[in-house]
Amino acid sequence: MTKDYCGIEHDKNPEGVKATDKFARRINYLRVSVTDRCNLRCFYCMPENGICQLNHKQILRYEELLRVIRISSENGIDKVRITGGEPLVRKGIIDFIKDVAKIKAINDLTLTTNGIMLADMAKDIFDAGLKRLNISIDSLKERTYSKITRSGYLKKVLAGLQKAYEVGFHPIKINVVVIRGLNDDEVTDFAKMTQERPYCVRFIEYMPIGDKNNWDKKLFVPSLEIRSKINRYKQLEPVTKTDKSSPSSDYKFAGAPGTVGFISPLSKHFCLMCNRLRLTADGKLRSCLFSENEVDIKDALRSGKDDEHISKIILDSISGKPEGHEKLSESANKKRSMYSIGG
Ligand code: SAM
Ligand code: SF4
Repeated sequence: MTKDYCGIEHDKNPEGVKATDKFARRINYLRVSVTDRCNLRCFYCMPENGICQLNHKQILRYEELLRVIRISSENGIDKVRITGGEPLVRKGIIDFIKDVAKIKAINDLTLTTNGIMLADMAKDIFDAGLKRLNISIDSLKERTYSKITRSGYLKKVLAGLQKAYEVGFHPIKINVVVIRGLNDDEVTDFAKMTQERPYCVRFIEYMPIGDKNNWDKKLFVPSLEIRSKINRYKQLEPVTKTDKSSPSSDYKFAGAPGTVGFISPLSKHFCLMCNRLRLTADGKLRSCLFSENEVDIKDALRSGKDDEHISKIILDSISGKPEGHEKLSESANKKRSMYSIGG
């Protein structure tokens, strides 16, 4: 085991790992989308109206999700992220977290949330056994936040962040999608948060995913530009990477308790180190965010197939993982946006 700068232990090479793809990448990280529903409508992720949501029969039941996670864990998955849509809107999510936390081989359990419901739920999530959180906050200004999310109240998210901090989540990663002309003037303010608290603020490049994500070259801000802007306030120093599969290049201000990270899917591909597999809420395995290739697992789950069969579907999906993706310029993935894949 080695520890990264956030204090997270990474098991480098556990015995019996089967999940290695054709390019010798060890696939040990499963992102599980529990819903395509959301209580926000971020303009880069979801259309404002007319969303065709999945019905109850279409989405995997908790016991089905748990079965896939358990079988994945027997094939080398040791890290799980619960995501969506907004995972906290799904009824029964706390009990689901408890059940995932009980799966022995999962030694790293995290969740990505927009934080709107977090003030009320943070303690229950923590007590359920999940200790690491990613919270998406794209602006620290109430009006800009409402404009980006089309419906959200910044006050609620900040209350959720505060509660998560008090409850003891660590690390708390703050995801910020940077959009030119909207929130690119706030990047230094976000970075300053890491001087006060041990937050990992991570700037994410706006990705052209889905056909209604409003992506435009003019709105795209490359990570390098964001970093230069922050450096003009105070020089960032690189942090040595211990988790090689992390897509984030991390830095910190001298003496700061937190870190500033840059996730650059467009300007700097991280395919070479990618260790991820995704399970969508409607039961498809996706081995690459930017490829439309999906492998259905729902039918097998619902037609009485045994664990060996399910295991083979998981391993087949892993072995079909593409080496990388093309340069992303327009919509990389027209069929699905992030809310329906699971971010
Ligand atoms: N609803 C939760 C949230 O917003 O944190 C979890 C799901 S959301 C799809 C996961 C992450 O994907 C969020 O941090 C969001 O900002 C990011 N995301 C969605 N669409 C994106 C896009 N077009 N480009 C970059 N990041 C995107
Ligand atoms: Fe909802 Fe998250 Fe997509 Fe925003 S980014 S619309 S919060 S799923």
